[in-house]
Amino acid sequence: MTLPKQDTIISYPTGTLEETARVLHIETLLDGRQAVILDRTPCHPVDAFWPDQGADRATIHYDGGQAAVLDCQLAATDGSALYVGADLPVRQGTEGWSFLAAHLLPADVELTEGSELGIAVDASYRRALSRGHSACHLVSLALNQALSGHWTKEVRTDALGAPDFDGLAISSSSIVENGSIDVFRLNKSLRRKGFNAEGLPEQLSELTSLINQTVAEWVQAAAPIRIDREGDRLTDRRYWSCALPEGEARIACGGTHLDSTSALGKVSITLELTDLDGPELRMTTACQE
Ligand SMILES: [Zn+2]
Repeated sequence: MTLPKQDTIISYPTGTLEETARVLHIETLLDGRQAVILDRTPCHPVDAFWPDQGADRATIHYDGGQAAVLDCQLAATDGSALYVGADLPVRQGTEGWSFLAAHLLPADVELTEGSELGIAVDASYRRALSRGHSACHLVSLALNQALSGHWTKEVRTDALGAPDFDGLAISSSSIVENGSIDVFRLNKSLRRKGFNAEGLPEQLSELTSLINQTVAEWVQAAAPIRIDREGDRLTDRRYWSCALPEGEARIACGGTHLDSTSALGKVSITLELTDLDGPELRMTTACQE
């Protein structure tokens, strides 16, 4: 079969955990694993360029047995070859390319192109990642609010109108089960944009309680969360949208989420200043039911 000309249809943004799908393409990778492309999938793939939320855990059920999906990675094709994960030569959305979820399976799983299979995502792992990702967006908004007094120049604002420290300083974001780890650069370029880090070391504990308190209020408010999307294919734009008491917060996001802030439980963050790779602020978030 030829390589798909359209992006994979994805159902994880609506919280779907199971699908019946058609096998469009199978390719053995250099490490021996098979990359299996389906027409549709409920399985969230990890993005090589911004790997904040990792792959779902999933199992396929096919004619002949069942197998664990070893990994699910973003893949792309221009019609002539398949590029998986770190090998992607282009950014998602590049014209003339199709973007796909590649399900990596053990070499001994015998699948046929054109056949149908069932694919089911591990529900509790998904929920733990969704909780971590929803919490991550809320704590970033609360962090922006808490740091708003540190700006000396007008900069772009976030979804709630505060100076967007998160968007301007983020270096990496990792969604883990029921939490996240976000690292922000406090470098010269951020200072040039108008961020004044003076007093930050002494304020860490005050900022921590402020952020925890803001997020606790948002959890208490049971604000509905939904994913808005412009289409059901992998590259179609998607937004995390949360109806907070302060207003509707909307953030471009390709991940999975809970449907209400009330499901987050108790959210606590810790802040840490480090200077290993230049000055950085590290925010660790954990949710407890
Ligand atoms: Zn996100």
